Amino acid sequence: MQDKNFGPAQPIALALPAQRHTRQARIVWGDNVVTVGGGAPVRVQSMTNTDTVDAIGTAIQVKELALAGSEFVRITVNTPEAAAAVPYIREQLDRMGVNTPLVGDFHYNGHRLLTEFPDCAQALSKYRINPGNVGKGEKKDKQFAQMIEAAIRWDKAVRIGVNWGSLDQVLLAELMDANSRRVQPWEARQVMYEALIASALDSARQAEELGLDGNQIILSCKVSGVQDLIAVYRELARRCDYALHLGLTEAGMGTKGTVASSAALSVLLQEGIGETIRVSLTPQPGEARTQEVVVASEILQALGLRVFVPSVTACPGCGRTTSTTFQELAKQIDDYLRAQMPLWRARYPGVEGMKVAVMGCIVNGPGESKHADIGISLPGTGEAPAAPVFIDGEKALTLRGEGIAQEFQALVESYVQRRYGPRQP
Ligand code: SF4
Repeated sequence: MQDKNFGPAQPIALALPAQRHTRQARIVWGDNVVTVGGGAPVRVQSMTNTDTVDAIGTAIQVKELALAGSEFVRITVNTPEAAAAVPYIREQLDRMGVNTPLVGDFHYNGHRLLTEFPDCAQALSKYRINPGNVGKGEKKDKQFAQMIEAAIRWDKAVRIGVNWGSLDQVLLAELMDANSRRVQPWEARQVMYEALIASALDSARQAEELGLDGNQIILSCKVSGVQDLIAVYRELARRCDYALHLGLTEAGMGTKGTVASSAALSVLLQEGIGETIRVSLTPQPGEARTQEVVVASEILQALGLRVFVPSVTACPGCGRTTSTTFQELAKQIDDYLRAQMPLWRARYPGVEGMKVAVMGCIVNGPGESKHADIGISLPGTGEAPAAPVFIDGEKALTLRGEGIAQEFQALVESYVQRRYGPRQP
């Protein structure tokens, strides 16, 4: 019912992500413990694309991904040479002060590599096992058991990661067969969903029967279609309380991959589904591998689930911003804040929650800048060449001339020191 003076009698409900109870896994290296599930913040992970045999190159990329905000990093372990390189990668990272846990990605020969290279098994903090290619026929259970035994022996978490590109074909054929005997057969896609989920849950049950702590199991069922991913994870979350790793597999490049991943992950995260995420972007030529970490962090930050970097509010610009000054300043400030974060995170606790505004003209510039912790309203076309700066909601000063960008950056730096730095006695 509407009150004619004060609007609706009830306040508008807040949009909050749902919460789902899950078990909690511990992924440990050195002093660094990354908990997954059980109420922990949704974690960001990423994967290297270097040849793991190149221990130095891989360690450098892991460091870059970690500095960008990846909380654990997966590396391919596909050959004896790669397995032999893993302890050296770990050693390099420890030497560089990078405590980020490493996850080993195993396919086909993981049982052999984890058995024959105990230093590799120990240096990794988590194993990713794909039940679709762990082995065929009678060998399958035995080889799966060997990998689980290694996880138990070295006290490691395991992700049972099913992927529709490498789905267990025997299981799929059995389910297709059973489906054909139904009075009203399901669509082929629905049978595929069931096969993905059954593969993950059967493997998890098997791992627990072998003695692996159920808390140390994380599940994923990756597909490349947005609606498919949503359908599969809703059902997976309904059927189990394992922590779930979310990701749209083979999301693609650039805008397409970013948008598809954001669309799929946002729906699920808002429903409380997903305890870790990865955005599987194909890097564009020359693009940094860290872009997938940036996108994953931005998804969580946009949903209000995590805060990683200070946010920059910038208007889109319009006919009132005919020069590129405004775009350049917005980009420069955004890049600057992101580049500072590895240092600032330790030095200025809470700085990630800072809000900066870079606005294009007088229409919304002063208003939006006042809402930010520090903001600048640039002069639009035809306005006097002056840029008022607002600090904590008040107009603090006006910048003019060629050096506006550098001066505003210096103001941001001193604001950070003053507000987030150690209190002076
Ligand atoms: S703030 Fe000004 S420049 Fe920016 S979009 Fe609005 S009217 Fe255009």
